[in-house]
Amino acid sequence: MLVKNQVYEAVVTDYTAEGQGVAHVEGCAVFLPNAIAGERVRLRIEKAQKTWASGKIVEILEKSPHRCNRACPVAKLCGGCDFWHMDYEEETRLKAERVKTCLNRLGGEALTEVPILAAPDCRGYRNKAQYPVAAKKGRAYAGFFRAGTHDVVENQRCLILPEETDTVKDAVMDYVNQFRVSVYDEATHKGLLRHIYVRRGAVSGQILVCLVCNGEKLPKVDALLARLKRIPGFTTLVLSVNTKKGNAVLGDEFITLYGPGYIEDTLCGLNFRLSPRSFYQVNHHQAQRLYETAIEQAGITKNDTVLDLYCGVGTITLAMASAAGKVIGVEVIPQAVEDARDNARRNGIDNAEFFCGDAGQAALELERNGVRPDVVVVDPPRKGLNADTIEALSRMAPRRIVYVSCDPATLARDVALLKQRGYTLQSATAADLFPRCSHVETVVLLSKGEIDSKKVRVEFSLEDMDMSDFQDKATYTQIKDYVLEHSGLKVSNLYISQIKRKCGLEVGKNYNLPKAEDSRQPQCPSEKENAIREAMKYFGMI
Ligand code: SAH
Repeated sequence: MLVKNQVYEAVVTDYTAEGQGVAHVEGCAVFLPNAIAGERVRLRIEKAQKTWASGKIVEILEKSPHRCNRACPVAKLCGGCDFWHMDYEEETRLKAERVKTCLNRLGGEALTEVPILAAPDCRGYRNKAQYPVAAKKGRAYAGFFRAGTHDVVENQRCLILPEETDTVKDAVMDYVNQFRVSVYDEATHKGLLRHIYVRRGAVSGQILVCLVCNGEKLPKVDALLARLKRIPGFTTLVLSVNTKKGNAVLGDEFITLYGPGYIEDTLCGLNFRLSPRSFYQVNHHQAQRLYETAIEQAGITKNDTVLDLYCGVGTITLAMASAAGKVIGVEVIPQAVEDARDNARRNGIDNAEFFCGDAGQAALELERNGVRPDVVVVDPPRKGLNADTIEALSRMAPRRIVYVSCDPATLARDVALLKQRGYTLQSATAADLFPRCSHVETVVLLSKGEIDSKKVRVEFSLEDMDMSDFQDKATYTQIKDYVLEHSGLKVSNLYISQIKRKCGLEVGKNYNLPKAEDSRQPQCPSEKENAIREAMKYFGMI
């Protein structure tokens, strides 16, 4: 085991999902923030476990040619961005590599390369900001949380935001400090202002300001409005009431203090209405490219019915409407569904229908009512598809499934599940919607029995032939890869089988209990047990 505070020398070989460097020392994976693959470093261990550790770079002995000076002065402290220490070439390389590795390891593919739609501009692209506010010595300030904490790191000028957005933040803070508006304190659950939320239409330039408050009333609203009205594009001011403890930024109640309570923007040639709660991709240019790729892959014809699950305000649904016979969107947030219906009307689209509900349950309901879409688009949140959605897809058997994903690991898991139901992965494209940050979007096309010129690739290992694997949703290899990726631990088939048995799951014949009573098997240590349980939860097995 590595020793805390001791300094070791190692080469950075890889990255974690969060963009930290990974080096191996004495067989142990060490996670290093701000490290770049290929660099030889001296590192100090900060936390040591049996098979993994985290540390800090003490000295870079061999610098990567991709290392660069951080353009953002608070990048090292602020938890908002991950990659200001490297050039954009390395950032896009590692993102494409991550998508490929996930699809190969967790999705059972054998891709040699995944193309990535790189962004033309890494700065000023984010059309939404959520600044937490804090106060020290009687002065209130706004910024972003330090990574892994709720300490606010003050940020004067955030480089991935347009300048107008920071101007709004400054105007609000000026008002807060002048009128001594109290600032929320998590520890005491007292104080009024929690977050400044700003959304700006990339094309329209319209600005929505939403102040998240631990209460229903703001003092001196006129003075605030006087400041905001001086900012070009300012359209509406909304108060979001959030009196709950916890991490959710927005509350459930919204009070419009000025303007219509929403803004408009243009995307894929259509006009969209956007409320504070509605999901809208933060990078307009790259979202448009992602959607164009999704539309192309969907291969829609005029007679097709398209089902768009997790449709938000109907961006993809409506962008596909003109090519299709009929489009149906499903979304769980009522306000977003209202926006989606309004968006259909304002664009004169009359072949679109929207349902509010859980994607899986709604899809099963549609299937029971005889709806058989030709193409299904899914764009779920990070946790990916739930069991109902997979089941509904399987029963509806669309010709094509276009899967837009913000988490390559859950995407790969779902690809594996859909392959078990007769689908084949036809293409995968990564898209960088979050330059300088570790998130990456992916769009994949899966199809069923349509592309006969291509050979269907069947790959399996003897281990995967154990049918209990399929009944239990994830293979031993998938669990191992997940555990390695998320906790840096290596776990054996034996350990997985022990935990599966503990959870009352079927275990294949190779992993049965030892025959002799006195035979000794190593027992899964608790740290690995927790990691395996996490993986099994993730794969919906427990
Ligand atoms: N396709 C849209 C939205 C994608 S974000 C776009 O690109 O703009 C994912 C959306 O799924 C969000 O709008 C979220 O509110 C919604 N969502 C989350 N869980 C859901 C569920 N269980 N059922 C249906 N929609 C869900």
